[in-house]
Amino acid sequence: MDKDITLKDLEDGASDVIAYINDYEQQKQLTLALIFLKALAQLTQEQATDGIPIEKIEFSAVEIRDRMEQISEKTIRGERDPGGYIGRRFQGLDKHLKGSLEIQNIVKKNEHRFVARPHKKEGGGSGNKTYYRLVLNKVESEAVSDEEKHPVPADGLRYEATHSLPPWWTRWIHEKNIRSWKLALFLMVILFPAVVVMLVGFLPLLAFVHPPLALTAASWIGMLILPAIVVFLLACPFYRVIDKRVAMAPDWVNFFQFHEFLMEFRPDRDESGKIRNRQIHFVKYKGQCPVCSGRVHIQRGWWQFPGRLVGRCWENPAEHVFSFDHVTRTGKPLR
Ligand SMILES: [Zn+2]
Repeated sequence: MDKDITLKDLEDGASDVIAYINDYEQQKQLTLALIFLKALAQLTQEQATDGIPIEKIEFSAVEIRDRMEQISEKTIRGERDPGGYIGRRFQGLDKHLKGSLEIQNIVKKNEHRFVARPHKKEGGGSGNKTYYRLVLNKVESEAVSDEEKHPVPADGLRYEATHSLPPWWTRWIHEKNIRSWKLALFLMVILFPAVVVMLVGFLPLLAFVHPPLALTAASWIGMLILPAIVVFLLACPFYRVIDKRVAMAPDWVNFFQFHEFLMEFRPDRDESGKIRNRQIHFVKYKGQCPVCSGRVHIQRGWWQFPGRLVGRCWENPAEHVFSFDHVTRTGKPLR
């Protein structure tokens, strides 16, 4: 650690970590590793505020476990071996934080100098306990925030994902990997309806050749038409999101625009940035209209902007129209 680090820096670093976890908590349930980090950050922040010398601000596994129990309001396992148990949470955390720029972005936004990382001081020999502490590192310059990577275009706007969770009846698919569904969806959206349409087209020919047979066939095919339509309508949005990476969520999620959720087929990257998997995310965006400060909502482009999603201002939906890019989360004026 740098010599010029002050107690205030440590306090700031701890508060940035807490801010990150609070943000995370709005979207997902905290893992035990993150509860560990929150406990460590809270304890650090409290002692730094009390003016305890920096080198003494460190905590044993038991102290951290007790705070984790307070945070999660339940008993944390590992009464018999808190050291080993807490150690495993620390390892899980290391994996979680590697390559994550989110804490750095918070540090930069708050104009703090250092980013805090959890650190384990192994106790060597008998009687020397293992301690955990937050250490501060200089903010890395390559930690580019989204704002710098994708600046807002002229007269455009930035969209922000809200923290709202999709309705409970979509949870079975939210953040699930559906790549393997592609074939099944293809069958449901393209092949099954196509076969039914072909069979319908086949009927006049059959009626010409053998009228009584055509009548029987017609009733059988008639029974297939309704299921074909239902299957097509249900599967279509999912096929579309795999194909286009983003789509409006189906009406059984959105209640005909009432909820405004989009579906995204988000890449899940490993540490080297390679895409391991893709998952469905239900997500809602909002933006502020650069013309009138009204709220901008994402909608289908319909016939005016075919195949696109657009941002429309509620104050003037016909004229204040913007493009929508779910990757850069920015929009340009379209009118
Ligand atoms: Zn507007």
